[in-house]
Amino acid sequence: MAKSISCSDAGKDCGWSATAESEEDLMKQVKEHVLANHTEIELNEENITGIKSLIKEV
Ligand SMILES: [Zn+2]
Repeated sequence: MAKSISCSDAGKDCGWSATAESEEDLMKQVKEHVLANHTEIELNEENITGIKSLIKEV
């Protein structure tokens, strides 16, 4: 099973989504995307936990 996440699931007006084989890989892509596009989101422990709760198995 792959892991998937999309910005729209987080309530963002953004069409980005990503799929990866592991949560670790997926979170790496998420962090790169957030740093480049959502500078208002601080990548602190609380927000990372929130982001992880949006990950779906696909
Ligand atoms: Zn986005």
